[in-house]
Amino acid sequence: MADVLIVGGGPAGLSAALFTAKNGVETTVFDTDETWMHKAHLFNYPGIGSIDGSNYLETLRDQVDDFGVDRHQETEVTAVESTDDGFTVTTDDGEYASSYVVLATGANRDLAAGLDCALTDEGIVDVDVTMETSVENAYATGAMVRAEEWQAVISAGDGAAAALNILTKEKGEHFHDFDVPGDAEELFGSLVDSS
Ligand SMILES: Cc1cc2nc3c(=O)[nH]c(=O)nc-3n(C[C@H](O)[C@H](O)[C@H](O)COP(=O)(O)OP(=O)(O)OC[C@H]3O[C@@H](n4cnc5c(N)ncnc54)[C@H](O)[C@@H]3O)c2cc1C
Repeated sequence: MADVLIVGGGPAGLSAALFTAKNGVETTVFDTDETWMHKAHLFNYPGIGSIDGSNYLETLRDQVDDFGVDRHQETEVTAVESTDDGFTVTTDDGEYASSYVVLATGANRDLAAGLDCALTDEGIVDVDVTMETSVENAYATGAMVRAEEWQAVISAGDGAAAALNILTKEKGEHFHDFDVPGDAEELFGSLVDSS
């Protein structure tokens, strides 16, 4: 399986990371921890009654760490460039190469513009329903692809959509990540309430 570099560790970036790492793609995330989630309290995240944004993030970070994501906190990405066989990402601690890149930098579109991703007339990054940009194998997710219709659950959905498209390309057929109660039983054994 190929590898993916994800820029941004908010709901969009970490959601993408969760799905790629869980399904065997080597996944690295760079994040400067300026996510808006630190300012938010969620009452509108489906399935969760009420959660502080930083607590949500802490749980999501633990979740991706459990699936083996290589998470670089406090690491800023300064450039993303296309190469013959993928992408090079420049950070303040060196250069990294990958087959795929997922941009998840909130409303900041500078890296997408630097990579020559097409923008819409409104100046947002132009993506299709899989979140792929005009640059093949480069995805844009979350706040950067919407003109202020910003919600955590939408960003998380964008990240998942990008990841599934990467997995579809890698596996050569349409992919979805479905688990069933038996999977939880196998993982947690007697901790699962079967009543
Ligand atoms: C006051 C406030 C209250 C809110 N309340 C709610 C709410 O109740 N419900 C709700 O659904 N949403 C709420 N939101 C919106 C929600 O926080 C956003 O929709 C969500 O955080 C967007 O997720 P994202 O992953 O797209 O971007 P972000 O969460 O902004 O994450 C982007 C991440 O990328 C990192 N980054 C950026 N550039 C770089 C770079 N060059 N290199 C490395 N890392 C980089 C940033 O540091 C950041 O951690 C609120 C927002 C605010 C400001």
